[in-house]
Formats: sequence, structure tokens, C-alpha cells
Amino acid sequence: MTDRVPQTFVTRFAPAPTGFLHLGHVVNALYVWGMAREAGGLVYMRIEDHDRQRCRPEFEQAIFEDLGWLGFEATGPAVRQRDREDVYRAAVARLVERGLVYGCSCTRAELQQVAPGADGERRYPGTCRSRGLAPAEGVGWRVRFEPGEERFTDRLSGVHTQDPSRQCGDLLIRDRLGNWTYQFAVVADDLDQGITDVIRGVDLLPSTGRQIRLARLLGRETPPRFAHHALVMRSATEKLSKSDGDTGVRDLRAAGWSAADVRQRAQALMAVSLDQPARTGILPGGRL
Ligand SMILES: [Zn+2]
Repeated sequence: MTDRVPQTFVTRFAPAPTGFLHLGHVVNALYVWGMAREAGGLVYMRIEDHDRQRCRPEFEQAIFEDLGWLGFEATGPAVRQRDREDVYRAAVARLVERGLVYGCSCTRAELQQVAPGADGERRYPGTCRSRGLAPAEGVGWRVRFEPGEERFTDRLSGVHTQDPSRQCGDLLIRDRLGNWTYQFAVVADDLDQGITDVIRGVDLLPSTGRQIRLARLLGRETPPRFAHHALVMRSATEKLSKSDGDTGVRDLRAAGWSAADVRQRAQALMAVSLDQPARTGILPGGRL
């Protein structure tokens, strides 16, 4: 049996309103709108404000202004994760129905005691797996991940195989404070919005297997296709930060750059980053 090939190309640009847009976001936007244009597809705008403690309305406003100034135009109105409680509740209900969700009372301090694996990630050891705690207020909610590999073909870097049960263990989908986690919210959103193609930075490549697993557990027959592009880095170990004044879209604009100048700069950074074998672009000299 072959997978059904999606008939359309639907992707999304999905910033978190925790800061201003910088050149790293512009690179992502160039990929997203570029690939969509090439495929005759759509770009939806999604504000990823699942982390209510860190998101601010002024950043959200600024993201729309800056994207508009740069000339990136999304299809239809934006969706906001804070408005989508019903979508997440419905998705969790599907998992609960299948007996896949349990409550986890481990504290952050307890989880920090787990030694990180070779990839630097701390795998949840399954402490609460058999304790029979219901997913309720005041505890974390986890979904059971049984051992098994997820294999996918990245449009830019080829075939990857990941076993989420070995990487992260049973996945946290809602934290003790009642925040939906990034991993859960995006998978539920991608399913609900019919996203066929996810285009994002290579820093998220290790979480692709778990997102595919979660999508399957939610009943998605054909998970989205993925394309992970190189990141623009400040140095070998430092990502660009939203507080880096010399890379912020509005700072460049204030310094007299035109929208075309900013797009061209981002295109040049894409070209530099694609030359890096690790698919992580490092800024020459650490400066933009
Ligand atoms: Zn636990």
C-alpha cells in the first residue's frame, strides 16, 4: 500500500511572539514563501503563543508589521494558539480514548536529575508510567511512546530515522501549569489546519520523529512532509537571539535599510549557510 500523496501544498509561518523578528526569521520566511510559490501552495500564519508566560501582544503586533513591510503575505486570517483550547482538548480526548495519556507528578528538579543522553537530551525515565495518575490539573500530562523507529525523508537533507521512545521517552503534552507544550500544540495545529509541509530550522530536526509519532497516534494517516533548513548562527554555538540589535528587522529598518535590502541580506545568509556541511550556517566573523 502506498501513502496517499497530498493534492495540495499547505505550509505555515509560525513565529512565537516572544521577541522581534530578526534575520533568522527572514531566512525562514524566504524558504516558506519560496517553496510555497514554487509548488503553487498556500502559507497560513500561525502565532505560536502556547507559552502564555513569555508571549507579549506588542511582539505579535510588531511581527505583523514587519512581515507586511517585507512583503510576505499569508493566506487568510492568522490563527493564535491561545484561541485554540478546543482543538487541543479534542486532540487529547482522542489520545485519552486510546489509553495513551497519563498524569506525571515529577517536578522539574526531579527531571533535571536524569543524566542527558549522547544527544544532550534528557529522556523521561517513565517514573509515573505505571502509577495510574489521571491527567488532571496540577500534574503534567504525558503520552505513551512505545519503542519503534520513525523514518522520514527531509526535502533538504534526505532520509532520517529516529526512535522517539529512546530520544525523549513518553512525551510531555501539557505542563503542570496547564500550558500545552510546543510539541503537542504544533502537531494538533498542523493536523487541524491540514498542513502538508513543515518548513523550519534544522534545530528542530531532532523533534521530527516524535511529531510524526504523535500525528500518527492522533489518527493522521499521512504525516506532513518536512524541510529543515540551515540556521543562521552568530557563532558555532550561539543562535541568533531576538535581542540582537544588529539583526532585528526593525533595527535595520530604523538604520535606513529598505525591505529589499533586508531580503537580499537574508538571501546572502541562506547561501552562506547552505555551504556548511552540518547544515548550520555560521556568520562570517560572527557579525552580520
Ligand atoms: Zn513523572
